[in-house]
Amino acid sequence: AKNGGRGQFRFYAADLKDEEQERQTMLDDLRLALEAEQLELYYQPVVKIENSTVVCLEALMRWEHPERGFVSPAVFIPVAEDSDLINGLGEWALRKACETALDWPKTVRVAVNVSAVQFANPGFPAVVANVLAQTGIEPDRLELELTESVFVGDTDAAEKTFKTLKGLGVRLALDDFGTGYSSLSYLRSAPFDKIKVDRSFVTSCTQQDKNSAKIIAAIVGLSNALNMETTVEGVEAFDQLDVVKQNGARMVQGYIYARPMPAEKVAERLASGDFR
Ligand code: C2E
Ligand code: CA
Ligand code: CA
Ligand code: CA
Repeated sequence: AKNGGRGQFRFYAADLKDEEQERQTMLDDLRLALEAEQLELYYQPVVKIENSTVVCLEALMRWEHPERGFVSPAVFIPVAEDSDLINGLGEWALRKACETALDWPKTVRVAVNVSAVQFANPGFPAVVANVLAQTGIEPDRLELELTESVFVGDTDAAEKTFKTLKGLGVRLALDDFGTGYSSLSYLRSAPFDKIKVDRSFVTSCTQQDKNSAKIIAAIVGLSNALNMETTVEGVEAFDQLDVVKQNGARMVQGYIYARPMPAEKVAERLASGDFR
């Protein structure tokens, strides 16, 4: 076995009482996976409803563990965030996504998730600058997805990082909007180009729950007023698309259009005109 002879039954097992040990094992394996190129990026389209064109593809990390199979990024990203590994993972994703996007039409952007831990690293803007220079991608084709958690902690440092990143010409998106510690005050100073409305609003957007739809409408209105774009995440069904559309959304991302897919599939679909 790849992981140095550790028995696969002990590995991440539910009866492994020592959670800290479990995390450490996962971290070690993740480190090896990064070195051994066992990580992959999948891409999910963001679609303009009006004409069904793909405006952007969000890169989402995939890890297939040799013994455990696919491990969700919702599980391994938080583990990586407790160590410096998140910086290596994030840099890898950034470079890989930009390289991949070079094969796409120039009208199609690429979005990359950036952990708040990565964002808080003083070296982060230089990493972005390097990737831009080394890949040669047009900076405005790169969209960095940040969550509200980047505002926790040193706000002066955060503002400086925002400025530097905007200076590089990249786009910034506020991810998972409406969850977390939502305070509108940071929209005043942070130079976001886009708000991504969290999936939870769409999930609860039903005939019974009229409030979620109204909240979506309000967020769309707010971001229009601030000259920002809006993407509504997690649209799975036609009735949801209808509600979202009726409430002013122009761009959506969700299973209704496509699930995240490997880069080869994206290239195929772009070439075949399946994505217009
Ligand atoms: P996220 O950034 O909010 O990404 C959207 C998640 O929603 C993805 O899950 C995507 O597959 C899922 N999704 C998209 N459309 C639908 C839908 O219609 N229905 C449902 N039920 N789900 C949908 P995924 O790929 O499992 O990623 C989970 C989270 O892991 C991401 O949430 C992000 O926070 C994190 N993540 C993934 N890749 C990276 C990465 O490269 N760097 C960092 N820092 N975080 C990442
Ligand atoms: Ca995201
Ligand atoms: Ca999100
Ligand atoms: Ca999320």
